[in-house]
This record gives sequence, C-alpha cells and structure tokens, in this order.
Amino acid sequence: MDYFNYRSGKLYAEDVSVEKIASEVGTPVYIYSRATFLSHLRKIQKAYAELDTTVCYSIKACSNIHILKFLAEAGSGFDIVSGGELFRARQAGADTGKIVYAGVGKTDVETIDAMNAGVGYFNIESEAELENLIRLAKKSKKRVKAALRVNPDVDPQTHTYTTTGKKESKFGVDIDRAKKVFAKYGKNGIVDLSAVHIHIGSAGKTVGPYVEATKKILILIEQLRQDGFKIEAIDIGGGYGADYESNTAPSATGYAKGIVPLLKGKQLKLILEPGASIAANSSILLTRVLFLKKGGRKKFVIVDAGMNDLIRPPLYNAFHFIWPSSVEKRFVPLKKVKQAAGEGLEKVDIVGPICEGSDFFAKDRNLPPVKRGDLVTIFTAGAYGASMSSNYNSRCLLPEVLVDGDRYTLIRRRQTYEDMIALER
Ligand SMILES: *Cc1c(COP(=O)(O)O)cnc(C)c1O
Repeated sequence: MDYFNYRSGKLYAEDVSVEKIASEVGTPVYIYSRATFLSHLRKIQKAYAELDTTVCYSIKACSNIHILKFLAEAGSGFDIVSGGELFRARQAGADTGKIVYAGVGKTDVETIDAMNAGVGYFNIESEAELENLIRLAKKSKKRVKAALRVNPDVDPQTHTYTTTGKKESKFGVDIDRAKKVFAKYGKNGIVDLSAVHIHIGSAGKTVGPYVEATKKILILIEQLRQDGFKIEAIDIGGGYGADYESNTAPSATGYAKGIVPLLKGKQLKLILEPGASIAANSSILLTRVLFLKKGGRKKFVIVDAGMNDLIRPPLYNAFHFIWPSSVEKRFVPLKKVKQAAGEGLEKVDIVGPICEGSDFFAKDRNLPPVKRGDLVTIFTAGAYGASMSSNYNSRCLLPEVLVDGDRYTLIRRRQTYEDMIALER
C-alpha cells in the first residue's frame, strides 16, 4: 500500500500532482509520501504490539533528517551503522536509548561518540570489536549494553549482495562460536552483553527464513540462559520484503504471525530493524525524457536521472516499476507488474545520461509511448535510492520533496555546482 496514485491519468503523490512538483522543483527529484512512511511504521508497531517491541528504522535505507524526525515522533527507534547516521539521528531528535548500532568496522571515535550519546545496544560483529568496546568503556566508565550479532546460517533467498546471515559472511559470528564468545566475555563486568542480534539479509519475499533463524537463535538463548547469562532482548534485524511489484511481499502482520508465537512468554524484548519495508514504496524518483533513440533492434528512452541517483538496478539487478506520469485512460496501471501487457505498448530500455553501460533503470520493458519532455516515474525508489546516490559524472545530488496531504516541502534542496566543489576550494 502506498499513496502514489493516478487520478484521471495523472500521477499524484498523496494530494499533490507530481507534474506540479516537477514544474516548481525541476527534475530529477525524489518525492516522498509522509503518510506512506507512517502507515508502514504503524503497521509494524501494531503487528508486534503483543510483545515488548521496539521498531528501529534502519537509517541507511533513506536518511533525510526530516523523515527521521517524524518517524521518531511516531515512536521509532533507529538502526545505525556509522557515526554519520548517529549524527543524523540526533539532529532529528531521536531517543538515543532506542538506537542500535551495527557495523563490522566501527572506529574508536565512532564508538566513543556512541557511548557518550548513550545508544541502546552496540550490535557486536566480532570478538575483536567486543574486546575493543570493553577497553573503551572501561576507560570512559560508561555503562554500555551490547548484543552479539550471530549468523544463523539461513539463506533469505535474495541477491548474494544482500545476503548477510550465512556462515560465509563478514557480518557477526557463527552460531557455533557464539557460545564461546559468551563464555569468554559474557561476564566481563563492563559491557553488559545481554542480547542477541541477527540480520539475515535484505528484500526476502518469504517469512520462512525469519522463522527458521528465530528458532535457531531461541535455542542458543535457552542454552546461554542455562549457562547463567542474562539475555533480555532479541534483535531479529531487517530485510522484510517491500512491494516493488504490487502485493508480492508478506505484510507486517504476515511476518508477525510467524514470529510472535515463537517469542511469546520468552521474557525477551524484541527489536526489529526494518528499512526497505518502510521506505521503499514511500518514494518515487521523478525524471524527464530527454531523448528517444534507436540502437540495433533496441529503442532507448534516455531520461535525466542516472545510476548516480538510483544505483539499485545495476548494483543488485533490482526491479523498479516505471511508467509515464501522465497517460491516457487505457494506460493507467492497475498495479505494479514486472512486464505490462496490452495493445499500444512499446518495448524500450530506460537509461540515464551516465557514461557507463550499466547506467540503466529497465531493459526490454513495455511502456506506453513517450516523447521528449514527458515525465516518467520510477516507483518504489525510497529505499537505497537517495541514500546511495553520488556525484559521479559530477552530477548534482537531487532535491528531496516531502508530500503531506495537499502540501509539499523541499526537505533537501538540489545541490549546486558550487556546493559540489566546495570541499575542493
Ligand atoms: C541494512 C540493514 C537493515 C535494514 O535492511 P532492510 O532490507 O532495508 O530492511 C537492518 N539491520 C541491519 C544490521 C542492516 O545492515
């Protein structure tokens, strides 16, 4: 469910026509729907309400501080992976006690900052990191809580680049080693190692791997408790599916139905770290057709957005539904599908202006006919879109617009050439 819909053939973000935004802010532009963000967050909070649950939105999915601010106001905690994300969370007024801090390469400066900020849990990725945290916490005499990130060795059946919980992964420690880590460091008297964290990967489309992983971790927690360790929380990470195609991802309730019964009565606080399932379809990337051209048997639609603005298609071979923002009635899409069928559609490649063969958004995709100057929407661009964008080819970072009902606010202005080279002056 999202709030980007066609009305009489024209695309609206909530109650604002995207054409209006394009004419006032220019293209390309990221457009966010506040209502979509909030409805996803609230659905997750509600689905797990039976348990003592903290939803920690994963900042790296979409990091604009204005978005973090209204999510924090709606009760969200945050999953961070760097000092920069901690800074963003604090600028947004986050409750630092509801922050979980993951990442395999935390520096001493980042670690000390996070201790001083009072983050909820350090999610520990290796024994070396834990030793370092103990050393730093001892020096600064801070009370620090940590969760050990464990690899449950479960395959989320997603792209290899978004698989993070198998044995052969740089994240966390093997489930077999976890007990040894607790035996060695579990009662160090400085860092309170009192939770277990998993994150099996991103964009899985089924509940099964979560159930399997949670069951494995619960067995581990049971054994740890028998060995006298106090385990107060389980963090089952993120990676919940998002509807890149309509109605293909399990709902929040669907996941909760698998997970909640496993945790009931277990005296465990639950932490969730959803990113994409909150952010993905809360945004579109609006772009304009620059040129049409033929190449061999191919037709290309060259748009003004490029892989520097949205890298998911070349990076993960990710699918984004793409459609003109204004269409005749017969072309109004009823849902987001991999490949549209029907008369009058043309098979095209939608590509950007970057000097790389990998600069594409879609290949051999059926689209209604478009012409130079038309607006085209790349849907479900909210997760790992703006946050992964770069200045490659010395292109300016895009503006971000937040729609709330019939109003919109520019929450990041378009970067200028002067902004872009400011650090080189
Ligand atoms: C990236 C990440 C998430 C969020 O993943 P999504 O697929 O966006 O839900 C959660 N936890 C950790 C540790 C991550 O690295």
